[in-house]
Amino acid sequence: MATPWKPLKGYEMVIGLEVHVELKTKTKIFCSCKTDFGAPPNTQCCPVCMGFPGTLPVLNRQVVHYAALAGLATGCTIARYSKQDRKNYFYPDLPKAYQISQYDLPLCVDGHLMIETPEGEKRIGITRIHIEEDAGKLIHDPEQGTLIDCNRCGVPLIEIVSEPDIRTPQEAVAYLQKLRAVIAYTGISDCKMNEGSLRCDVNLSIHKPGQPFGTRTEMKNLNSFQSVQRAIEEEYRRQVEAVERGETIVQETRRFDQQTGKTSAMRRKENANDYRYFPDPDLAPIVTGEDTLDTWRKELPVLPDQRKARYMADYGLTAYAAKQLVSEKALAEYFEAACESTAAPKTLANLMLTEVFRLLPPESAAIPVAPAHLGRLADMVEQGDISAGVAKRAVAALWERDQDPDAWVEAAGLRQLSDPELLRSYAERAMAEHPDLVAGYYKGKANLAKALMGAAMGMSGGKANPALLQHLMDEALEKGRK
Ligand code: ADP
Ligand code: MG
Ligand code: ZN
Repeated sequence: MATPWKPLKGYEMVIGLEVHVELKTKTKIFCSCKTDFGAPPNTQCCPVCMGFPGTLPVLNRQVVHYAALAGLATGCTIARYSKQDRKNYFYPDLPKAYQISQYDLPLCVDGHLMIETPEGEKRIGITRIHIEEDAGKLIHDPEQGTLIDCNRCGVPLIEIVSEPDIRTPQEAVAYLQKLRAVIAYTGISDCKMNEGSLRCDVNLSIHKPGQPFGTRTEMKNLNSFQSVQRAIEEEYRRQVEAVERGETIVQETRRFDQQTGKTSAMRRKENANDYRYFPDPDLAPIVTGEDTLDTWRKELPVLPDQRKARYMADYGLTAYAAKQLVSEKALAEYFEAACESTAAPKTLANLMLTEVFRLLPPESAAIPVAPAHLGRLADMVEQGDISAGVAKRAVAALWERDQDPDAWVEAAGLRQLSDPELLRSYAERAMAEHPDLVAGYYKGKANLAKALMGAAMGMSGGKANPALLQHLMDEALEKGRK
């Protein structure tokens, strides 16, 4: 991230994040309506998810399964006994006038994630992960007024609540990136911030060192890493200025405006008792047996941190390179598949971090080149068959039309000449044809060696492996010295 955050007037900041993740179930949490994103408004709803009186919810088992996977992947304890509660509030996007969520007995508790900070690794606690239903979407139309789309009513969500352990905007972004990667690895969600399948609320307060935490404000529904960072910087500054003016911070919900970069008050913060939470009488408690948990535990994929450690140990990659490669499961799997067909994993990693990352569209991990082909290119670079520049062109060409990399290099006539005997003969011939250059070189004009290199390179049609030719040229010149 760009500029590191600097404290203003000695105030520390405290951040806790609430992250909502839409689960990738085929159907909604309490009915059999579809959950597909982008369907025409109000085509994926029924009396249950629209909250008609007399309907009864039936919990989708997959929701519990997926939420538990999120909990297991973040080191949570999964509750053997959990229940669902009604959170009552009135808003037009919620036809039932209550949201089914979890209050005092959430499904997962006490987890954590490790993030990297300039001071080293840091543990960010996860208080809880609970399941709940999403609300509908309000569409504000200048001509028709406000319309409601109920397709999203009853789409299953998990809410992941962090401990107030985060201290800088950079830590907040690092936590979110880590959380997104880990959740995406489990396959329970797309985690697309731009489609709203991962949304983040930021709680923020300030205090002077040694003082208790200040009163927090909450900024809702931030939908990119960048807005999270900007909203934090802006809200911190606003709170510092307010406190310095002698004002007191009130607990409230604020909106962050991406256009102006400012936050503004939306409503005074509700407390839990405003919601009149009570157990939903239509739903049985969620009881999860140890055997079920064992089965789910076995489904967990190898997570980003474990893969990163393995890449560093087995392939000698740097922490930076390994981290980039594990940022998306599909990328990590691609890298591992390509590693199967190369003896040069570091060169392969390098090709991925430069050429592949440059060609990949944002938020995509679909690489149109067969892993074995990229692996082969890495080998060719390693063996000096092609230069790094040719490898770059080859990746771009295979991206357009995937094909056998040897055939492409052959057809393009770009294979490097790396036969030492042949290259030595060019070096010697260059010396024989330019006795004047050789004589000048021996008299101390060191840069005349470049002219000799140029002549030898010319004899190879520009295809000689430059490092090897240079080495052989130096050798021949030393040998010729009396
Ligand atoms: P609510 O439902 O009121 O939003 P939650 O318990 O779901 O409350 O979430 C509270 C969030 O605020 C948590 O992420 C928590 O870490 C964070 N938090 C609590 N106290 C503070 C504080 N003083 N400053 C900043 N964040 C805080
Ligand atoms: Mg909350
Ligand atoms: Zn429905």
